[in-house]
Amino acid sequence: MDIYAKYGVTRRINAAGTLTRLGGSLMAPEVLDAMRAAAGASIDISELQAAAGKVIARATGAEAGIVTSGAAAGLTLATAACMTGWDVARMEALPDTASFPNEVLMIRTHRNAYDHAIRAAGARIVDIGNNDRGTGAGVRGIEAWEIEAAITPRSVAFAFAATPQTRADLPTVVAVCRKHGLKVIVDAAAQLPPKENLRAFIAAGADLVVFSGGKAVAGPQSSGILAGRRDLVGAALVQLIDMDVTPETWAPPPPIDRKRLTGVPHHGLGRGFKVGKEEIVGLMVALERFVGADDKAKNAGFARRLEAIGARLAKVPGIAATLVSAAQTGRVPLLEIAIDRARVGCGAVEFSRRLQAQPVPVHLGERRAVDDVLLVDPSTLRPDDDSLLAASVAAVAASRKARTSARSRRS
Ligand SMILES: *Cc1c(COP(=O)(O)O)cnc(C)c1O
Repeated sequence: MDIYAKYGVTRRINAAGTLTRLGGSLMAPEVLDAMRAAAGASIDISELQAAAGKVIARATGAEAGIVTSGAAAGLTLATAACMTGWDVARMEALPDTASFPNEVLMIRTHRNAYDHAIRAAGARIVDIGNNDRGTGAGVRGIEAWEIEAAITPRSVAFAFAATPQTRADLPTVVAVCRKHGLKVIVDAAAQLPPKENLRAFIAAGADLVVFSGGKAVAGPQSSGILAGRRDLVGAALVQLIDMDVTPETWAPPPPIDRKRLTGVPHHGLGRGFKVGKEEIVGLMVALERFVGADDKAKNAGFARRLEAIGARLAKVPGIAATLVSAAQTGRVPLLEIAIDRARVGCGAVEFSRRLQAQPVPVHLGERRAVDDVLLVDPSTLRPDDDSLLAASVAAVAASRKARTSARSRRS
């Protein structure tokens, strides 16, 4: 049964990647089976999160971990934990941070739309660093004195947006933050693959790191990973789970440390980000599959499919398809489709709009649309859609010619 057709929702061909607005990753049958099995029984959520923490710790090398409702929720919870520690009064006050330290430092060029998730916890972002690596104006990275000059008694953490370009600055940030007692939170939401990155940021000294569960890990779309120091992960978890508990009988397992809590924090800041048992189990199974997968074989399979699509487009006038290898992208192979404006009659943005207007809408990656290049990302492309994707691209490329000849016939 096509559940989307039943409710009148259009199915789309997604070759744009694990975009949240298109529903993120597609889950493997093994993950779906696990979620279905999880749906049929009751458990204690904190015990299930503790079990997930063991899977996450094995995968990341961190002391502890929890499943969140996405990397963005992970950022909010991480920030909250850095500001509250085990202090129940502070947990209760959030997002009001008037009476305790709430400043989170960020390199100016790392600021992005997701830092709203950090501010949502009640933190104030203090952005620092000029002429940084991110601007391209020189070869410098952040320097220790720039961080130290921004540290005040209200500083609690440093938020670091990881990319292949920013990575080189992490050791400096970690060294200065360690010296001054600031925690380092790394947003690595989309830094997978390569799967080595699951461990890289913890190994580099980050206190907390977040990953999306609904991107490359191919877990539930509304899942994510928060991994790191046991005390901080525990303080995040207690602000996430349902806490309508009876203080006398409440006995949570680690990483929640009841002895260090000054009381029982009922319903914290993250209560609205709750994670269901199905998502927790789905993420656990997906993460184990992701860690165990043979990336080389997976990428070789992707490359073969992209080559076949490229071959079908080879004779289409006005477009040029080029395979970019996984070694070149550092992630998965991609097929670049360069659009010749003069011959097709439009640039990449209009080409993409026309693809999305096809009977079965087709989404390609638009990251390089300014260069009139669209990208075929195989991560979420179903193999049985490959040939319709190629046919749709060919049809759109030919559409101007068709219209022009129709016009000339009329005249
Ligand atoms: C996707 C993304 C997020 C949000 O991740 P979700 O799992 O969708 O919440 C945060 N930061 C960056 C850099 C991302 O790419």
